Amino acid sequence: MDYSELKKEILSKKNIVILTHKNPDGDAIGSSVGLSLVLNEIGLNTKVIVPNEAPAFLRWINSYDAILNFETHQAAATEQIQNADVIFCLDFNALHRIGEMGDLVAQSSAFKVLIDHHLQPEDFADFTLSKTSASSTCELVYEFTEALEATNSITKAAAEAIYTGLITDTGSFKFPSTSAYTHRVAGELINKGANNGKIHQLIYDSNSISRIKVLGYCLNNMEIIEDKVAFFSLSTNTQQDLGTVKGDTEGIVNYGLSISTVMVSAFFREEAGMIKISFRSKGDHDVNLFARTYFDGGGHKNAAGGCSTSSLEETIAKFKNCVQDFF
Ligand code: 5GP
Ligand code: MN
Repeated sequence: MDYSELKKEILSKKNIVILTHKNPDGDAIGSSVGLSLVLNEIGLNTKVIVPNEAPAFLRWINSYDAILNFETHQAAATEQIQNADVIFCLDFNALHRIGEMGDLVAQSSAFKVLIDHHLQPEDFADFTLSKTSASSTCELVYEFTEALEATNSITKAAAEAIYTGLITDTGSFKFPSTSAYTHRVAGELINKGANNGKIHQLIYDSNSISRIKVLGYCLNNMEIIEDKVAFFSLSTNTQQDLGTVKGDTEGIVNYGLSISTVMVSAFFREEAGMIKISFRSKGDHDVNLFARTYFDGGGHKNAAGGCSTSSLEETIAKFKNCVQDFF
């Protein structure tokens, strides 16, 4: 199916639902809200649904309040997905990444569109725009909009949502995934009214006191293996003592990589009886493969995640063993 056929298919439909991954980040929220605003502008009815809440530093995004949270509004969200004629799946490569909503999508007869930049996408959609070389799903939402000849429908609010994912997924245009096209898209979004200075400030200069406290704790208690691997860990008790709230720990894993000799950084956080893990790496050190092999996870070569149902101590012991073997 080419883009003009796809456009006809979408335009003929009534209820459009846009879904993104669990623990949504700037790219997940930015791409979902951005696409939804563009589709609204061309007269379509859309609903963005997230598996759970996004961190506070994203809540300034225009139309954030219209997002439906599956965790807190399960019945309404289920009804929306069951009544959808088109389901967009943004910024995830496998249906299990959206939790229980994945089963609803698998059962749905709606027309499905996947827009994503993660490795090894599952083949469940009727139309897939998957490019692992893309800096972000937001960049692909722009490309998708270009292909539909709909860039005129990108309002200032949509441009600001899409710009958000460009900067959060590229570390403000510094990761190697940043291409000339990424910068061109950023320029076009600024032309459409995105206030880049304001967005940087809202995202990066909006720390809460609890975030800085947990960052301080993590930096003080960072562990290093042979100068090459850095890792951080946070138990539930420590999070309670520090007053840590959801979102406070986002990005702390990157501080490990800021050490010149460190090639792999990991972050372990105890959360509701399980351990959520983030991995980051430099160069050819493939944390996607590492996370898939040992921690039931995945993601990208240089940024991946996983989880463990063992205790924090056992998970770290396992990590110490397999990180030696693997890298
Ligand atoms: P983060 O560490 O920021 O949570 O995630 C880094 C990257 O890995 C993101 O692109 C995210 O989508 C992916 N990721 C995080 N956790 C998981 C997981 O449990 N499974 C898979 N397949 N990917 C994950
Ligand atoms: Mn992304």
